[in-house]
Amino acid sequence: MHRLTGRAAAEAAGMASSPGARAGSLFPHCANPRCATGWMHLWRSRRVPGFEGRWACSAECMGELVAAAVRREMDGGDAISPPHPHRMPMGLMLVEQGGITPAQLREALEGQQRAAEQTGETVRLGEWLVRSGVLGEPALMRALSAQWNCPVFPLASYRPEEVAGAMPRFLSEAFGALPVRAAAGRVLYVAFSGRIDRSLSYALERMTGMRVAAGLARDSEFAGAQAGFLGTPAPATRFLEAASSWVLVRAITERIESKRPVEARLARIHDTYWLRLWRRAADGPGLPAPGAVEDLLATVGNSGKSTG
Ligand SMILES: [Zn+2]
Repeated sequence: MHRLTGRAAAEAAGMASSPGARAGSLFPHCANPRCATGWMHLWRSRRVPGFEGRWACSAECMGELVAAAVRREMDGGDAISPPHPHRMPMGLMLVEQGGITPAQLREALEGQQRAAEQTGETVRLGEWLVRSGVLGEPALMRALSAQWNCPVFPLASYRPEEVAGAMPRFLSEAFGALPVRAAAGRVLYVAFSGRIDRSLSYALERMTGMRVAAGLARDSEFAGAQAGFLGTPAPATRFLEAASSWVLVRAITERIESKRPVEARLARIHDTYWLRLWRRAADGPGLPAPGAVEDLLATVGNSGKSTG
């Protein structure tokens, strides 16, 4: 009866159960539309692994579900989260708000460009202005907040251990993002440094089943808070550079088949595929404990545009 308890808990946590495995349904149905097993699968004692709330009768059928999910992520990920429309350039906004003069803007843009030519690294204009003492951080945060139309999250009393299971540490570092707080298991507050990454927000919504409220954080607070987050116990994370999408599908399927998670989900953040496996059903709504999940982060080589 252990697995029923697990599924009941998963349902309580808001995870969709496999369509055929609802209470009252005698036999589960394989979610692979091209499943060729027929009634034989009733003799297979599989309830796990689960993938995106569904169940497949065999490794072959799981491979089909995974291939469809990889195709979906490859084709649709960017279209669903377009870049933020019509953002006013930071310099213009600061001048309009009276934070800096047009002359200061011109000077900063020139200095920023000179530095970029010398170091090969472009410092964001706002950051440049704060560094050169022209602009205070509070004024910069007001402008950024208006530019991105989002709040500024204070991180002074940040408690990283409460959100330790939210996401792989690599994603925090790669996209300048920090899970801040999970409110009532329904809203996940995520702070970004300098710019909001909608692709990551969207992936987090799908992974956690929570609404993501994105905001900005002051650079002066972000670094320390992020160091705290990076220092908390994290879900086990593997990295994979797949030569093609076919290799990616095979690797994900093998991972799911060998780990037999109660649930697994796939999302893409720009070029990074994020597979998360739930080792056990959630105790309730909200973020999983770091030990309850494990992550696989993968990129696909240039040749891998077709899943065949
Ligand atoms: Zn099947």
